[in-house]
Amino acid sequence: MPGGNEIRKAFVDFFKANGHEHVASSPLVPHQDPTLMFTNAGMVQFKNVFTGQEKRDYNRAVTSQKCVRAGGKHNDLDNVGYTARHHTFFEMLGNFSFGDYFKDLAIELAWKLVTEEFGLAKDRLLVTVYADDDQAAELWRSIAGLPDERIIRIATSDNFWSMGDTGPCGPCSEIFFDHGEGVPGGPPGSADEDGDRFIEIWNLVFMQFDQRSDGERIELPRPSIDTGMGLERVTATLNGTHDNYATDLLRNLIEQSAHFSNTEPDGGGAVHHRVIADHLRASAFLIADGVLPSNEGRGYVLRRIMRRGMRHAHMLGCQDPHMYRLVPELVRMMGATFGELVRAEALITETLKLEEGRFKQTLDRGLKLLEEETAKLGGKQALSGEVAFRLYDTFGFPLDLTQDILRNQGRSVDTEGFRSAMERQRAEARRSWAGSGEQATEAIWFDIREKAGASEFLGYTSDVGEAQVQ
Ligand code: ATP
Ligand code: MG
Ligand code: MG
Ligand code: MG
Repeated sequence: MPGGNEIRKAFVDFFKANGHEHVASSPLVPHQDPTLMFTNAGMVQFKNVFTGQEKRDYNRAVTSQKCVRAGGKHNDLDNVGYTARHHTFFEMLGNFSFGDYFKDLAIELAWKLVTEEFGLAKDRLLVTVYADDDQAAELWRSIAGLPDERIIRIATSDNFWSMGDTGPCGPCSEIFFDHGEGVPGGPPGSADEDGDRFIEIWNLVFMQFDQRSDGERIELPRPSIDTGMGLERVTATLNGTHDNYATDLLRNLIEQSAHFSNTEPDGGGAVHHRVIADHLRASAFLIADGVLPSNEGRGYVLRRIMRRGMRHAHMLGCQDPHMYRLVPELVRMMGATFGELVRAEALITETLKLEEGRFKQTLDRGLKLLEEETAKLGGKQALSGEVAFRLYDTFGFPLDLTQDILRNQGRSVDTEGFRSAMERQRAEARRSWAGSGEQATEAIWFDIREKAGASEFLGYTSDVGEAQVQ
């Protein structure tokens, strides 16, 4: 049973042996990139290298990049607990060519790694290419010997990557592993491709063009390669399972969660343990990279992740803070690779404990209110925005937490109503300041909220504006 740490090393060593520079993961908070909430792919730290604005003294690189996909363009928060392959935090293994090799060597190296180094069965692998990328299809035929029916042409943006409206772009080719008929789901491009049977393990991006602002797309003189393989997915595959949570990267945390909650890891609480394990990793890595829970921006995404985890701990029957107890195991597993976890261990522990202690005070009451309110609803009727706002405002329930709770009942929330309730409250707050002749500072805002009976953890530092409903 190869573990995650060994597989990460095998990937890095393979590309090092093939002339790639091993570059450390960049932080989860992207440097000088306000357009991006969190680092969500291996290429993020190389953006300027791909566009030619920045030069490095190597033209091939290999990384294992920390990624968070819980906000912005890529948001997998709602997938956690529902699929066996999506996390909020995961590691993306990648090899990069900056104007050096292109499609042929990228495909050759990928195939060699997957089938020889990793030893995956060739007849379980299939690939996708962009619909008009004959070149890639031909390379898969000649290099990998794949038959046409296992080279699937996809015409959607899933197989065409672009950095932005302008700049580098090009077709992608993805490698899938078929976990067999026992797992529900169809092949890529089919109506039920969202199942866990055919798992996308690796995405190869061929940066072939430069998209100009005048609409013209020109061939890059020195095209580049950017690839991303999910460490958790490939570890699962190499362990003969489609389930990332069965790998040591997550399983150990699940067992700890079961131990500390006095429950079974695979019993009725299994899904809670999975969510807790996932959200613990995301929370710990975000805190280690300097994000702290708050009511806006990145800090609010962290708070949402933490509170979701805490709700699941609550469902396991935990009376005391739970998530922080899993930190030592995470540090034991990953501290050698990510020294920042070791350095921030005390901060991670304290932050989790504090946030969990605070939320605990209102979680029970909020859940009770939610139960009473849903009991009044007929059939699959949506929850009113007013109630969702009350849960948010008085009990500290992020909107998406309420939505997630209701999802199992097939119910949604009237988000328009939620927005207007929030707007109304903000307008009222502004009105009550109209006569003061002073600007409503954040401290004053905090005051009003206290008077209005808002609970203790609201209104910490700033306006509780848009961030919550993004
Ligand atoms: P999917 O279609 O499964 O959501 P994706 O196409 O969004 O994946 P890419 O952006 O191509 O993923 O990222 C490259 C690789 O990173 C994927 O092939 C997959 O192995 C891994 N990956 C992507 N999202 C996640 C996630 N949320 N959790 C774990 N691994 C992921
Ligand atoms: Mg995705
Ligand atoms: Mg995909
Ligand atoms: Mg992909």
